[in-house]
This record gives sequence, C-alpha cells and structure tokens, in this order.
Amino acid sequence: MGRSIRLTCNDCKQSYDLKIGQSRSDNKLDRVLGYFDGQTADLIQEKLSLLGEDAYWNYRSMIGYCKACGSYSSIPTLTIKDNGKDYVTAGKCSCGDTCELIEDNDQTRMNDIRCPKCQGKMTVEITGNWD
Ligand SMILES: [Zn+2]
Ligand SMILES: [Zn+2]
Repeated sequence: MGRSIRLTCNDCKQSYDLKIGQSRSDNKLDRVLGYFDGQTADLIQEKLSLLGEDAYWNYRSMIGYCKACGSYSSIPTLTIKDNGKDYVTAGKCSCGDTCELIEDNDQTRMNDIRCPKCQGKMTVEITGNWD
C-alpha cells in the first residue's frame, strides 16, 4: 500500500502533494516499466534479463527533490538485487533532471525537509493511503 503525503512550508505555506510507496499491482513488471521513460525501461529490462527469471526487483515511488527546478515530486524507483547489492534505477524530474531521493523512513532526513522557495522548514503530513 502507498501513502499520500503533503509537504507544507511553515513560513511561506508552499506545499507539495506526493505519493510514496507502491500500489497492489506494482508487482507486475509490465506495469511498473510504464512509469519510466523508454530508454530507462530498456535498461531495466536488460539488467533483469542478464540476471534471469528469478531476478528480484521491487518498485516504489519515492520523494524526489530536484535542484534544477527547485521542487519536490514523486519519483518512480526500481531496485534490483544482484549478489546482495541493490541497484536502484530512478526516474527523472519532469524537467528532465536527476532528483535527490529522500528515504521516507529516514526520520532525521524527513525532519529536515526544506522549502525550495524560502528555505523554511517543511511539515510532512500523511493525507491518505492508496493501493
Ligand atoms: Zn517556504
Ligand atoms: Zn526538475
């Protein structure tokens, strides 16, 4: 199940609505590949075919911060396990740049989310669940 969250700046009230986690049908590869652009989806498929049918992968949507356009968005990520190592492929910001990914279970990081507009502290609230 996924969660909807809202980041709101305590100072200027700028807010972002994001989705994190995964839906019940995000265990189907065809479906999750559709969250990535064609080139990225090809790379994921290539990596998985090298590992064979039993390759372990896991999809989830994460909080991404884009420095280039100064905003937060939901970023699709796919983790492939290979020999105990995690290979994370992440989608891009809508502007085409790479985002910094924020772990929502990293409390220290979550408590220090800053507003891109005024650098004020942002409050994180859970606004709902989705599946
Ligand atoms: Zn602000
Ligand atoms: Zn951007």
